[in-house]
Amino acid sequence: MHFFPGMAGAKGVRGQGLRERQMPSQADARKGRGNVHALQVRPYQLLCAVCRTGEGRGGELLEAVGEAPDRPLRIVCNAGDVYAYQDPGTGEDTPEGADYNRKRDLDILQRMSWPPGIVLPARTAFMMLMERIVTVEGICGYETVTGEGWQGCAKAGSGYYEAGRAKGIGAIIPPRSEEEMQEEKVRSVRALEEAEEVSIRPHILMCAVCQYGGGVRPPYPPDNLPELLQIILNRKPDLRIRMARGADWMMCSPCLARVPKLNACVNVLGSGGLSNEKRDLDMLQKLGLHFGSVMGATDLFRLIFEKIPTTADICKREGSVSPSCWWDGCGESNVTAGNANYEKGRRELMEVMSAK
Ligand code: SF4
Ligand code: SF4
Repeated sequence: MHFFPGMAGAKGVRGQGLRERQMPSQADARKGRGNVHALQVRPYQLLCAVCRTGEGRGGELLEAVGEAPDRPLRIVCNAGDVYAYQDPGTGEDTPEGADYNRKRDLDILQRMSWPPGIVLPARTAFMMLMERIVTVEGICGYETVTGEGWQGCAKAGSGYYEAGRAKGIGAIIPPRSEEEMQEEKVRSVRALEEAEEVSIRPHILMCAVCQYGGGVRPPYPPDNLPELLQIILNRKPDLRIRMARGADWMMCSPCLARVPKLNACVNVLGSGGLSNEKRDLDMLQKLGLHFGSVMGATDLFRLIFEKIPTTADICKREGSVSPSCWWDGCGESNVTAGNANYEKGRRELMEVMSAK
C-alpha cells in the first residue's frame, strides 16, 4: 500500500503548479533504481496540455511527460465529501471561478470513470483521455452562458483540443525511431542465433503459436517470435527457455511498444504490460511453472499444447471496455472464442514436433 503524505512538503515544478511526490515504480523497484517522481496534476491540466499541442505550444506538463513518458501522474481535484483527503485546494484554479473549476474537473473524471486522486502512468492517462474525450465542448465551454462565472474557457471553441487530439499521442510522446528498432532487431536476432538459453515472457510463447497459425514466418520486424520458432524447429529443439518478467530484450527488443529503459510493454493504451503480466501468470499457473523456470523448448511447447488447447482462458478480458488499462483487442476477441490461429498453429506445430 502506498501512503501519500499531505500537501505540506509537496514540491512545485518550476513554478507552474505541477507538484512532485516520491513514489516507487515497480520497474524501478525491480531494477533497484529507487524512486520516481509522481506529478500532481488537475484533470483540466491534461486537457489543456492536449490543447497546447493543437495550438503548437509547449508547456511544463508536456515537457515533464516528454522527458519521462511513463512517470506516474496523481490526478487530483477539489471533490470534497469522502474524497476530500486528496483535495489540492484552489491554488491551481484558472480565473473563471471556483465552481466552474470544480465542475470542469469532475466532468472529466466522470467521463473517464476515474476516481479523484487516481495515479496513472502519464502515457496511459493521456491515451485514455484522448480515446474517451473527443471534444472539450460541454466540458470547458458551454453552449449557453447561464450567468456570471459560467462563461467557460475562451479556448473551448477554438478547436485546439480537437486538433491536438487528432495529432495523437505521438505529438506528446514521440515513438521509438525506426532506426533504433531496426538496430535492435539485428542485434537481438544475432544474440538469439548464438544463445544456448533464451529468456521470454511466458504468454508470448502462445502469441508465437498464433503467429505461426496465421502464416507469419521470419523475417518478422516487430518481434523475434517467428525467428525463435524457426531455430527450435530447424536447429535447436532442446534450446533452454527461461520464463522472464516484463518485455524481455531477446524477444521484444525490436517492438514499437517496448520501453527499453523500463523493460516495459506499453502497447494498447500504454498499459499493455499490465494485462500481459496477468496473462503470463495465468499461463504459469496452468503449466505449474514460475518466473525463472527453465525447460527445453520442445518439451515446453508439448506441455503448453497439452495444458492450453485454446487461448480463451488466458487471453480473454470479460468486462474490460476501452479505454481501460485492462482492455486490448485480444482480450475482447477472446471473450466469444479462442484465437483460431492458435488452434491451427497448435495442430501444425504438434505435427511438426512429433515428426522430429
Ligand atoms: S490471442 Fe492471446 S496468445 Fe494469441 S496473439 Fe492474442 S494475446 Fe497472444
Ligand atoms: S513489447 Fe509487448 S507488444 Fe511488444 S512483443 Fe513484447 S509483449 Fe508483445
